[in-house]
Amino acid sequence: MNHYDVVVVGLGAVGAAALYQLSETGKKVLGIDRFDPPHTMGSSHGETRITRLAVGEGAEYVSLARRSHEIWKDLEAKTGNQIYFPVGGILMDSGIQPWGKHGADGFFERTVSYAKQFDVRYEVFDSAQLKKRYSHFELPESGKGYYELEAGYLKPELAIETQLNFAKENGAEILTNSPVLEIKKTQGGGVKLILEGKEITAERVLVSAGGWVKDFLTESDKKEFKICRQVLHWVETSSDDWKDYPVFMWGFGPAPEDFIYGFPSLDGKTVKMATESFIETSHPRELDREVSSEEKKQFWEEKIKGKISGLKPNILKSTVCFYTVTEDAKFVIRPLRGIEEVLMVSACSGHGFKHSAALGELLKDKLIN
Ligand SMILES: Cc1cc2nc3c(=O)[nH]c(=O)nc-3n(C[C@H](O)[C@H](O)[C@H](O)COP(=O)(O)OP(=O)(O)OC[C@H]3O[C@@H](n4cnc5c(N)ncnc54)[C@H](O)[C@@H]3O)c2cc1C
Repeated sequence: MNHYDVVVVGLGAVGAAALYQLSETGKKVLGIDRFDPPHTMGSSHGETRITRLAVGEGAEYVSLARRSHEIWKDLEAKTGNQIYFPVGGILMDSGIQPWGKHGADGFFERTVSYAKQFDVRYEVFDSAQLKKRYSHFELPESGKGYYELEAGYLKPELAIETQLNFAKENGAEILTNSPVLEIKKTQGGGVKLILEGKEITAERVLVSAGGWVKDFLTESDKKEFKICRQVLHWVETSSDDWKDYPVFMWGFGPAPEDFIYGFPSLDGKTVKMATESFIETSHPRELDREVSSEEKKQFWEEKIKGKISGLKPNILKSTVCFYTVTEDAKFVIRPLRGIEEVLMVSACSGHGFKHSAALGELLKDKLIN
């Protein structure tokens, strides 16, 4: 009775997409999560995620972002709930020193070149043109901006919930609050999953456990994945026009932390903004989930002050999330510990959400063919 064609371990952005895609095939599928997704303990929460097509992280990801937009539009048509908001996106460069992001050097130039190569609709502005359109960005005179029309934001919790709901409708089973403790190959050729007080067998397994992938890896393989705490801040606005802004990303210096990104105001009172941090925490369970007033002050002083106007030095809410980062920031999809029946997918180094819907489709093809 506890035997499935495919079991998906972890139902965040990637696992929910994979479970939905697998459920469409008519196979007997089960999704398992240690919490009750969508939840706030992994890498897929916090109201919004940026999506863009000319992804400077690598040309190989452009088709995934494009296909994901199609899937989200299809889900929206089925439910009437908007997941993808194509409000436009601006990428800014101070024009002083080239900056890298997610393992890619010359991020601004790469983005423009991929936009040209893949027919992405875009415009490039100089600093004065940008200031005229988006007066809150205090870009130096040497600065430049890349504006992408189909960029925008996604609603991560809704995307996960929608895909899980459709998976259930299609007959997939879902087990929540049930951590998988162990995964091993059986003598008969299948796979056994051990949970608290329960064992399940499957022909194939997908491990989409985000940062918890470490729990299933050998000591040496664990080192490939770095857990990096990230903090999201909701900053009070002093100007009404933030609701009409596009999503934005600004690399203002050569270090990966010399970076700020944000969203239009969704509530008319705050703008969600964040930087990136690459300080390692050993495991998701060790993550400091509190945000101190010192941290908020530092965020304002170092990332916003003198760079972005139309805001008050008042952070109304902050939340902690984490990236699971590999050295080159590429996605990792490969058999787990050499077990061909078990595929693992990495948590995508801080740029995975926009690709997750199409990644689910790609993983489905790998698991059932
Ligand atoms: C602050 C922040 C901002 C980001 N911004 C962007 C952005 O703007 N654009 C973008 O494209 N990407 C962005 N990303 C990256 C993107 O959100 C992640 O790549 C993506 O959400 C990762 O999804 P996941 O499914 O791999 O991991 P998760 O969402 O963490 O899902 C893993 C799931 O596995 C479950 N699990 C773990 N262990 C077990 C177990 N033993 N048994 C059962 N279940 C288990 C967990 O409970 C969890 O639900 C951002 C990430 C963060 C943290």
